[in-house]
Amino acid sequence: MAKREKACNECRRLVRGNECPACKTTDLTKNWEGVVVVVDPDSDIAKTVGIDTPGKYAIKTR
Ligand SMILES: [Zn+2]
Repeated sequence: MAKREKACNECRRLVRGNECPACKTTDLTKNWEGVVVVVDPDSDIAKTVGIDTPGKYAIKTR
């Protein structure tokens, strides 16, 4: 499975293109693992992974 998205090194958001829309950083990495989709930032899973904005995130970046 090809990974077309990159993960932001600051917030772990998965990004298409060269800039994180949340952080406005270009500090992105292709070396990421796992995907978590946060729909409700108040949910337990969002708190567990430390995410407070809905979106699609990498679980781990290297
Ligand atoms: Zn970011």
